Amino acid sequence: MSKYTGGFLRLLRNEVKIDRVINLLMLETRYIRDIFRFRCPLCHRFHTATNPKTNLGRCFDCEANFNPIDLVMAATRYDFIETVEFLKKHIRKTTKTD
Ligand SMILES: [Zn+2]
Repeated sequence: MSKYTGGFLRLLRNEVKIDRVINLLMLETRYIRDIFRFRCPLCHRFHTATNPKTNLGRCFDCEANFNPIDLVMAATRYDFIETVEFLKKHIRKTTKTD
């Protein structure tokens, strides 16, 4: 079904940081009690958080977890392929290799 390998998709989900994805999508963000929150693309509320360890965004109202792919698809009208191509451009582009 997909022309992408599991390894590549895993890379995409791990290497494109969720905070960066929020930024790229220009989702509205707020700091509430020092916690970084983004506007949930599903319910449009800010009862959200991101977890850098798992690289997931979570909406507590929707009880939904968003990996970078989920978040792009929820916030745009991109289909899966378009989402992958969009995120692909942002893998490690600005980080130096060591
Ligand atoms: Zn929500």
